[in-house]
Amino acid sequence: MTKPIIIIGAGLAGWTTARELRKLDKTTPLLLITADSGDFYAKPSLSNAFAQKRGPGQLVTTPATGMAESQNVTLQAHTRVTAIDSLNQTVHTSAGEFAYVKLVLATGAQPIRIPIAGDAASAVLSVNSLQDFSHLHERLTDVQGAAEATDAKKHIVIMGAGLIGCEFANDLISSGFAVTVVDPASAPIAALLPKGLGEQLGEALARQGVVWNFGTTVQSVDHQGNTSSAFNVKLAGGQTLVADVVLSAIGLRADLSLAQAAGLQCERGIVVDAHLQTSAPNVYALGDAAQYVNGRTLPYVMPIMHAAKALAATLLGQPTAVQFPLMPVAIKTPTLPLVVAAPAPGTAGQWAQSEPGVWLFTDAHQALKGFALSGTHTSRRAELVKQVV
Ligand SMILES: Cc1cc2nc3c(=O)[nH]c(=O)nc-3n(C[C@H](O)[C@H](O)[C@H](O)COP(=O)(O)OP(=O)(O)OC[C@H]3O[C@@H](n4cnc5c(N)ncnc54)[C@H](O)[C@@H]3O)c2cc1C
Repeated sequence: MTKPIIIIGAGLAGWTTARELRKLDKTTPLLLITADSGDFYAKPSLSNAFAQKRGPGQLVTTPATGMAESQNVTLQAHTRVTAIDSLNQTVHTSAGEFAYVKLVLATGAQPIRIPIAGDAASAVLSVNSLQDFSHLHERLTDVQGAAEATDAKKHIVIMGAGLIGCEFANDLISSGFAVTVVDPASAPIAALLPKGLGEQLGEALARQGVVWNFGTTVQSVDHQGNTSSAFNVKLAGGQTLVADVVLSAIGLRADLSLAQAAGLQCERGIVVDAHLQTSAPNVYALGDAAQYVNGRTLPYVMPIMHAAKALAATLLGQPTAVQFPLMPVAIKTPTLPLVVAAPAPGTAGQWAQSEPGVWLFTDAHQALKGFALSGTHTSRRAELVKQVV
């Protein structure tokens, strides 16, 4: 029997690779193994679905069986890969052993968990999958129901003022919750945005009611008492916040244990070359799990689209190097919509506001290396992309 190409992971990276491959070849055996259900959904919707009253079921755009059928893929769902034997080209899973001709690691990343003290530390939620979102949705719905009964606003504490923390802050304040965000930085989305623009976003969300606690961290989360489902959230400075839900959005990190145990080179992700090949022959990686050339991790949708297209050709015997163009990211904060094309890491230069709503990152020779747009100026993204050198 012909050995299949095996893809591990049914996120955007796994399914997009399958789709791209099927555009080029209808019959090569494809086996997709995934720990989750395999249902296809747009992960970016998780941080703006609640205000739109969309629950987990409504976010699934194509059920797993439909994906498997339309892409002619054999699906092994609810199956965890526990080991990779790259010498014998097999994977060991909770459902037995499978041989591959080529292997794609599309295993994503997991929420970073920092040590938090307190008897309710395990109640802190984070959202990086449909299942995580189900838990959050259920809890928010319960809390919202209780708020309606008592006519008192319910409190959400968000750890992390990065892109995802800010999107949730916007979504949950719009849903009628009282929202407080805690972050050690001094402005929202400090890793991506020029400080001035981050501050504008902070002010815009503050006008909606978001309370910011910058320059500090959450130290402990405790139950308020035996009869209450609320929490006391203690900050490093000693202040205590009351929360009905604590949501951690402090970032993601690839879980490298599987790849490391198989002897693959790993740093911040599974290291791949321009052809997305790992340090082992016939083993490839992309998406949130991968670390691309020049040490870049690119945990966004657009890089996956480019990587999957190149990888599909490579897997079918036409070695194709991935080339990433400038890929602006839209930040889903309707209170102040933003688009940012951050300069490549290590690019020397500085941000300056060229006109209201337009920030440019230029190098010492005044060459445009990145930009950030806000409000109505976000529609100028294509125009600015053309100007970046
Ligand atoms: C809330 C949120 C909002 C976002 N918004 C945006 C946005 O607006 N724009 C943007 O560009 N990006 C956004 N992103 C990032 C983007 O969604 C991700 O980069 C992308 O979805 C990652 O896809 P992936 O397939 O690499 O990983 P994942 O979606 O994490 O998929 C990993 C898959 O691997 C499986 N798996 C893992 N380990 C194993 C194992 N050992 N055995 C079997 N299966 C395994 C998992 O079950 C899962 O199916 C957002 C992310 C989040 C969390």
